[in-house]
Amino acid sequence: MHKLAVYPGSFDPITNGHIDIIKRGLRVIDELIIVVSYNPNKTALFSVEERIDMIREVIGDDPRVKIDSFSGLIVDYARKANADVILRGLRAMSEFEYEFQLALINRRLDRDIETMFLMTGYKWFYTSSHIIKEAASFGGSVKGLVPDLIIKKLQEKYSK
Ligand code: ADP
Repeated sequence: MHKLAVYPGSFDPITNGHIDIIKRGLRVIDELIIVVSYNPNKTALFSVEERIDMIREVIGDDPRVKIDSFSGLIVDYARKANADVILRGLRAMSEFEYEFQLALINRRLDRDIETMFLMTGYKWFYTSSHIIKEAASFGGSVKGLVPDLIIKKLQEKYSK
């Protein structure tokens, strides 16, 4: 059976941790929609369009992957897209409680959609968009944690 997953996140910007989850996710699901979730009341470093463009560039042409944006409840998006699965990645233990709550509320909102977690690759245990931005904003090297293209985009932002 064809399985479709949505992978929601802020992706501000996409990191090697996200890419790892996307690649490994595609080994068990057939089609993936990467959903750039945004909150109009929160400021991000990159605009939604910039984030989508960066994801498109680093993922390349893959007929199994679509990229979209959404603001609201991810179960609503998943239901409309006819998705079977919400894909999430898990890093440190500190994330577990929040992700657990989120998975339970999403299941309560729609019992037909399962949340699926993949453990982070050990290399990306401490990689988050937040920490990448923090390091890059002070001129620290984030090489190896994000694709080179993203390093360039971060440098452009912070040199302004
Ligand atoms: P971040 O916390 O880096 O801003 P997002 O909000 O964009 O990330 O996260 C989207 C999803 O990707 C979440 O499920 C998050 O746990 C997962 N994720 C983010 N970074 C990693 C990583 N380094 N390893 C595994 N999963 C990750």
